[in-house]
Amino acid sequence: MALQRCEFCTAHPIQEVAVSRWVRDPDDCERLTLWFCAKHLQRVKKAGQKGFAHRGLFYKVGFW
Ligand SMILES: [Zn+2]
Repeated sequence: MALQRCEFCTAHPIQEVAVSRWVRDPDDCERLTLWFCAKHLQRVKKAGQKGFAHRGLFYKVGFW
């Protein structure tokens, strides 16, 4: 676990989170679990249903 990093930066992650990830259509998403640091976990949560955009992909917390 020591080598684990946040999905979006080099910070140490605080939590593994179930997320949905998509490119264009939120209904056509991939479900996976990713590690996030405190800052990015907050940002993804805040983005809510519209998703947090990062390098052409969108992320939201949860599989629904
Ligand atoms: Zn981060």
